Amino acid sequence: MTDFLLAVAQQGLGAKVLRQLGLPSPVKLKRGEGAYSAKPLANQTIGLIIAPEQSTQLTPVIQQLGGQSLIRGDQVRDGLLLNGIIVDANGCHSVEALRSLFEQLQAALPRLRKHGRILVLTASSSVQQAAAAAAFNQGFVGLTKSLAKEVGKRGVTVNLLKVDPGCQHRLYAPVAFFLGHYSSYITGQSLHISCGIPAPAQLPATAVLSGKAAVVTGAAGGIGAETAKRLASEGAHVICLDTAGQTEKLNALAADIGGTAIVADITQPEAAIALTDWCKSNKRQLDVIVHNAGITRDKTLARMSEKQWDAVLAVNLQAILELDAALLDHDLIAAEARVVCLSSISGIAGNYGQTNYAFTKAALIGYVKAQAVKLGSRGVTVNAVAPGFIETDMTASLPVLVREAGRRLNALSQGGKPGDVAEAIQFLVSPGASGISGQTLRVCGGSLLGA
Ligand code: NAD
Repeated sequence: MTDFLLAVAQQGLGAKVLRQLGLPSPVKLKRGEGAYSAKPLANQTIGLIIAPEQSTQLTPVIQQLGGQSLIRGDQVRDGLLLNGIIVDANGCHSVEALRSLFEQLQAALPRLRKHGRILVLTASSSVQQAAAAAAFNQGFVGLTKSLAKEVGKRGVTVNLLKVDPGCQHRLYAPVAFFLGHYSSYITGQSLHISCGIPAPAQLPATAVLSGKAAVVTGAAGGIGAETAKRLASEGAHVICLDTAGQTEKLNALAADIGGTAIVADITQPEAAIALTDWCKSNKRQLDVIVHNAGITRDKTLARMSEKQWDAVLAVNLQAILELDAALLDHDLIAAEARVVCLSSISGIAGNYGQTNYAFTKAALIGYVKAQAVKLGSRGVTVNAVAPGFIETDMTASLPVLVREAGRRLNALSQGGKPGDVAEAIQFLVSPGASGISGQTLRVCGGSLLGA
């Protein structure tokens, strides 16, 4: 469905009129296209900001990704523009050190290009550390979220990585993702990078899913179809699974991406049986599992029928628990596999008329935390993605005012595209994301809901 405001804002006069009317004037986001490159930061200049008397381990990371780094924002030469800014806030545990970061960041900001990226890194917080250090580390969460709201109108994103000691070698893929344009609709978010899960012996630079078998449920349309295409573009063989009503679209998609179509309802045993049969006849385990299929049956709790309640619980939660249990029972989840569940910001913020839906989407956040611990010793990561307002059939059916509110109440003043969610899933299932498990990544443009 066309976003009228976004279209008008791209015309010079239109943008001016929108501003005069006090309406948001969203910028058309620059998005990454196609498969990952071996040098994702080639030709990019990254300002690297660190606290005085601190050293940084980020320079080799940026160089290996093909970028050029400049230490200290205040040394940026006149006329030079930055593609990204990294604030390495490790060791920034005093107001004096923070003041220096503030000054450098303020000097570097005017040099940041439209659609630029800001990535903040801190040590991860724990109750064991000095209270002052914990306070400063947590302070950067507030700074990240606030700055994201200030710079979103230029298409700039701001995100934060909390890095465990000794885990810098897990930073290549996350730094590439958050400094690149595959993360255009993710802003104001934090992820924790740890080394608790064994890392893959080899990290391919391109075709990162080459030789992997993936399954995407609900693959016939929307986010699922984009995810299936994206995983295939990185070399995965993708099993596209959806219900009988979607057979035509499903077959066309599977043929298009060289994958396999499985027509099955995930609430029925047929889905696990079909996947088990595929694995047995192909002598394979599954390397990537994307639990994408989901439905809404909105009504206030007072007016909700048992049928509406049951349908949402069955598809969005029970089917996922049972499918994973069946795959584990048959030993069909490969070592170093990646599992991603589709949550929602409704599961974080709650939403009127969605007690059933929000229950399931919040439940998945709890599920991935526990499942990550259970499967971590085998190198398997389990995460959730929580989309905000994404332009799909699901949101096209919303009343017009609800739809407009969903689109505008975020730092980027627009809805996301199914491809934005697919990119986040692709990142989380890539071998380089081994430092991320048990977490929920919001793809919401910095939505005010549940912020
Ligand atoms: P969609 O309605 O466009 O697609 C969902 C797909 O799931 C459909 O192809 C449908 O046939 C399939 N499906 C439904 N029940 C199934 C079953 N029992 N067995 C197999 N397949 C089944 O939805 P979407 O907008 O692409 O959403 C995908 C996921 O993202 C869902 O889990 C949804 O809750 C979540 N999500 C979407 C948004 C958004 O704004 N679109 C926001 C937050 C979360």
